[in-house]
Amino acid sequence: MIDRATIDRIYAAANIVDIIGDYVTLKKKGVNYQACCPFHNEKTPSFVVSPSKGVFKCFGCGKGGNAVTFVMEHESVSYPEALRMVAKRYGIEVEERAMTEEDVRRNNDRESMFALNGWASEYFSKYLTGNPEGKSVGLSYFFAEARLLRGDDPQIRPRILFGARRRSDAGGSGRGI
Ligand SMILES: [Zn+2]
Repeated sequence: MIDRATIDRIYAAANIVDIIGDYVTLKKKGVNYQACCPFHNEKTPSFVVSPSKGVFKCFGCGKGGNAVTFVMEHESVSYPEALRMVAKRYGIEVEERAMTEEDVRRNNDRESMFALNGWASEYFSKYLTGNPEGKSVGLSYFFAEARLLRGDDPQIRPRILFGARRRSDAGGSGRGI
């Protein structure tokens, strides 16, 4: 397995704009980059890359992640394989060591977390798109956030903040979504 220090070195070296730029043509828009999503079919770009946060997000199909998980999804490879590919791009030597019993246990826990995450993600996606409250509160928030990331509407940020405060005044959760 790949040790933690090597993984940290790979993440430190990985430039998300360069890596995703190998697969799609990115256009600079404000502080972010945007493109037509490589994971679903679209004509207007809703795929946004934030170099400062080191993440990508598609507001069309919902896919998002970092430089390594992008390679993982795009090349249909495992997480360690994607790490090796990114390491190779930056000339980082990957030191592998045999898995101890502790590593195996931790890996199993990790797999369970992924499974749980997948289930939660599906549940919330359904709620967001199929439930009236999910649609009116959640979806409108995501669309506003998408416009903000794309830089379409400079007035949108105050509106999001105001919306969140208003909900907390009314005795809601206080955090919006
Ligand atoms: Zn997409």
